[in-house]
Amino acid sequence: MRNKTSKKPAPTQEANVIYQHNCTAEDCRPHSYIGMTRTTLSKRLTCHLQNGSIKEHYHGKHQTKLTRQHLDENTTIIDRETDTRQLMFLEAIYIENMKPAINQQTRDLQILLT
Ligand SMILES: [Zn+2]
Repeated sequence: MRNKTSKKPAPTQEANVIYQHNCTAEDCRPHSYIGMTRTTLSKRLTCHLQNGSIKEHYHGKHQTKLTRQHLDENTTIIDRETDTRQLMFLEAIYIENMKPAINQQTRDLQILLT
């Protein structure tokens, strides 16, 4: 049973999730990135901070430096799956259906990250 006063665990501490990052820059709001992680989302976001599609997007499109706070605030968990194969399958389905623009831009980089 959950204690009503206890805080929910931060979403970034969840593992085995599909997540979506939305670019909130005014001229490109529908742009998003969908990915999956088997470790905590927090660890995954740390990777994104160092290299990869999201960082490239902000740097290339907006000439801004991606910050940890920005990543945390604009990334949401859209699905959860503990089975690794199912998780990868789900990620592929989400990307196929939603065609997130940031994934499309730099697909080669995403493979390097994974
Ligand atoms: Zn953008």
